[in-house]
Amino acid sequence: MIPFNVPPCTGDELGYMQQAIASRKICGDGQFTKKCNAWMEERFRARKVLLTTSGSTALDMAALLCGLAAGDEVILPSYTFSSTANAFVLAGAKLVFVDVRPDTMNIDETKIEAAITDRTRVICAMHYAGVACEMDAIMDIARRHGLLVVEDAAQGVMSSYKGKALGTIGDFGCYSFHETKNYSMGEGGALVVNNEKYIEKAEILREKGTDRAKFFRGQVDKYTWVDFGDSYLPSELNAAYLWAQLLKADEINNDRLASWNEYNEAFRPLADKGLVQLPVIPAGCVHNAHMFYLKTRSLAERTELIRFLKERDILAVFHYVPLHSAPAGLKFGRFAGEDVYTTAESDKLLRLPLYYGLTAEDRQAVIQAVKAFYGC
Ligand SMILES: *Cc1c(COP(=O)(O)O)cnc(C)c1O
Repeated sequence: MIPFNVPPCTGDELGYMQQAIASRKICGDGQFTKKCNAWMEERFRARKVLLTTSGSTALDMAALLCGLAAGDEVILPSYTFSSTANAFVLAGAKLVFVDVRPDTMNIDETKIEAAITDRTRVICAMHYAGVACEMDAIMDIARRHGLLVVEDAAQGVMSSYKGKALGTIGDFGCYSFHETKNYSMGEGGALVVNNEKYIEKAEILREKGTDRAKFFRGQVDKYTWVDFGDSYLPSELNAAYLWAQLLKADEINNDRLASWNEYNEAFRPLADKGLVQLPVIPAGCVHNAHMFYLKTRSLAERTELIRFLKERDILAVFHYVPLHSAPAGLKFGRFAGEDVYTTAESDKLLRLPLYYGLTAEDRQAVIQAVKAFYGC
């Protein structure tokens, strides 16, 4: 069986986890958390990075830090994971879904402005498959309308847009280190705070509402409860696992890109014949091979292809059911404008096995099976 995903493991994880245990500090914000935060701050040129318990809680933190009031509106794509939307529901906001572009499946930046009302406060851009949204246009709209920008860069660790790391362009960026992502800690994530104004607030929110971060830096002589907060610190055991992965980030990235490029080359003849559509990487975007997808010609064809691959022991999977048509989407939001591409394009999208360590043999088996399905 060729699985769809295998959680990344470099072999060095256990050693670092043992070090964490030996240091007798396994709660949050120990040496491994600090190493991971500092590594990302330097590598991504990020103002502040804080490891969190998940990508979802990084989004929750970002949404809470936006300081929304009941009835405030947040613009986001409908083609995304439920966590993107949940964060803003938690913060009390109304969701306003905007259509995606068919080429990248990212929010269509040209349709955002028409969705803005006098209650709009935030634009949330999700970088699908680690390929950047059109951030220059989005940042320009946000500046002109006085809106905050949250990047859901859960899939975009190690990707960039015009030389800037994803997650470092908006006011906040959110990463995920779930086992399905390029780099993992089992469950985990990180909040990137790019807007200086929110750094101290983020530290307080993350540490149960206390100024404990300041205390540890020696900036106050005792720590106290200063604001609303929650607990978003991951355990050092998880951070130690992630540390092993970050040290091999380039190796993991190159391995994934090699698989992605091989798929892309192999399926080009199918695309040239109009049998499938391949992912588009716009100019200025450097991606991280988070995902390789094909688009079939119809939902029925996709269902057939999934079945065909499964019969050959290959697990290929579709992706998001658009949020605006889901029960919670109907309850918490509305679609602004027309759903031209969100539903139609999501129906045709199929993700192929792609993970760190996918063997050349398995890659070829996937390629040959897809080609056989199309009689090529
Ligand atoms: C994975 C993912 C999340 C959630 O991350 P978790 O670490 O699983 O909580 C949020 N948004 C997107 C787009 C994701 O792909």
